[in-house]
Amino acid sequence: MFTKPAAGLEGTPRGELAQALLRNCVHCGFCLPACPTYRVTGNELDSPRGRIYLIKQLVEGAPATATTREHLDRCLTCRACERACPSGVEYGKLIDLGRELVDERVPRSLHQRTLRRLFVEVLSRPRLFAVLLGIGRSARRWLPASLQARVPPVTALVPAATTGRHARCVVLLEGCVQPGLAPGINLAAARVLDRLGISVRRIEGERCCGALGHHLGHAERALDQARRNVDACCAALDAGAEAIVSSASACGLMVKDYGRLLAGDVAYAERARRVSAATRDLVEVIEPGDVERAGLTRGNGRRIAWQAPCTLQHGQRVAERVESLLKSAGFRLTPVRDALLCCGSAGTYSILQPELSQELRRRKLAALTGGEAEMIATANIGCLEHLRAASPVPVRHWIELIADAAD
Ligand code: SF4
Ligand code: SF4
Repeated sequence: MFTKPAAGLEGTPRGELAQALLRNCVHCGFCLPACPTYRVTGNELDSPRGRIYLIKQLVEGAPATATTREHLDRCLTCRACERACPSGVEYGKLIDLGRELVDERVPRSLHQRTLRRLFVEVLSRPRLFAVLLGIGRSARRWLPASLQARVPPVTALVPAATTGRHARCVVLLEGCVQPGLAPGINLAAARVLDRLGISVRRIEGERCCGALGHHLGHAERALDQARRNVDACCAALDAGAEAIVSSASACGLMVKDYGRLLAGDVAYAERARRVSAATRDLVEVIEPGDVERAGLTRGNGRRIAWQAPCTLQHGQRVAERVESLLKSAGFRLTPVRDALLCCGSAGTYSILQPELSQELRRRKLAALTGGEAEMIATANIGCLEHLRAASPVPVRHWIELIADAAD
């Protein structure tokens, strides 16, 4: 698609990037059926092709309106369209650019700006979030039903082995909301890795990975958080850690992208690339053979529906590895239709776009439970909590199931 950037953009790095990205789109429409929002609304402007057309107009300087912004806001950034596109359009980069341009031209209301700021401030501070979650749990019975469903109950924790007892060692990222909402996930990861002869350690001074700020229009803040994490991760790699591991697929995807995001920062570019290259989703450090070798095979044929988060299947493209591990651990995977479609969680999307998000969750839960699963397994805390709040069956992280299958 030929694009002529407007006067202020022509010849700039952003203008050239836009031209290069837009050039690949041939308007074939193969991406439309893959798009969850298009499947719900049926509106071309809520499809990848429609949004790409809106972004082209923004780049060419056409007037932007709140409606333009709304159609871009409705995108989940799930990147299912990238998988479906035969021309290799990098839609994820295009939507980032489109959002940047529309935010510059159509400022959000004070209420919207405050809400977004609040999300970034609260959700990226684990201690503050834990305090607020504690208050929410104490006041649960007085909360409206919609909020009650969002406050998870406290679960019993199984401690992990002492750190540092094996020669092999990885950094296990804590994340921001996961320690408060589901501390059992990383404990389960540590127990499984311990059986495989791998110690886990935390890094001093871990910050939010930056994904929240990146997707909510606080790009500079996100880059600052990325720089702090690059400092901390490099120190851990220098001290002998063999990988930076994340049990939350959204955070892992963001850290894998640090190299690209900080490419223009001379002080950080090389170290950011090093950190990204050393980053793995948890599923990438465990092989199916490891599960059998470590005696983690007592799944007892329990029926599990696997929900592959978009960040794992379209972003990192390693989702099928989880299926292999669950099967090796003795679980039976139930059939799930439309497995490529997003569950509607998408970070703060479930709060900012409640109607679309809830409809996508309704469809996803119907698909997940259609095969009479006893339990749903996922790989990202955001999807886990979003589905759990409305699921008729328990929703857990896949590593918790593997850890529970210990003999
Ligand atoms: S993004 Fe890809 S699949 Fe969609 S219209 Fe453009 S070329 Fe076709
Ligand atoms: S990222 Fe997801 S929601 Fe956005 S256009 Fe692509 S398929 Fe649709």
